[in-house]
Amino acid sequence: METIGDVLITEGQIADAVSRMGKQISADYDGKELLLVGILKGAFLTMADLARAINVPVEFDFMAVSSYGDATKSSGVVRILKDLDQEISNRHVVIVEDIVDTGLTLNYLLENLRVRQPASLEIAALLVKEGIQQIPIDVKYRGFDIPPDFVVGYGLDYAGLYRNLPYVTVLGEDDIG
Ligand code: 5GP
Repeated sequence: METIGDVLITEGQIADAVSRMGKQISADYDGKELLLVGILKGAFLTMADLARAINVPVEFDFMAVSSYGDATKSSGVVRILKDLDQEISNRHVVIVEDIVDTGLTLNYLLENLRVRQPASLEIAALLVKEGIQQIPIDVKYRGFDIPPDFVVGYGLDYAGLYRNLPYVTVLGEDDIG
């Protein structure tokens, strides 16, 4: 099948990274139960694959957030569209994100979840854009550091499309139309 854009990370590379992240998480939470909090919509594929690479007991929950701003830039003002279904006090929580760009969304989420007093709170993100976080974010489990280009695929969209691509790619102008 023909690929779209310039492929940055292949399906195989994603599978290797997710497997490595799953092993790290399984080792770190050995003997504990974990609550994975997926951030919709972008993290749905990372969440599905990462959860299957973890071998300690996990529960799932999801939040949906939207960041005000234009299509490709985050404003830092975050609106919660869907909150967690469960209480997280005294739970070990790992937030699962697709990509960390400015870091403003995760910074907001960390503050919002910390006040609910989880036993621990960490971040797993498949992609971290290098050197452009406006706020330093400690991403304990990370797949790839990538250049600060706008990427799509493996959960990430442009105008709602491309989330189903099994790889991560940089769209060319022809693809955007
Ligand atoms: P941040 O708040 O870290 O700037 O951005 C977080 C959110 O912006 C991500 O969860 C994602 O939804 C969106 N985002 C940031 N960079 C990209 C990108 O390169 N491609 C896509 N499709 N979304 C992005």
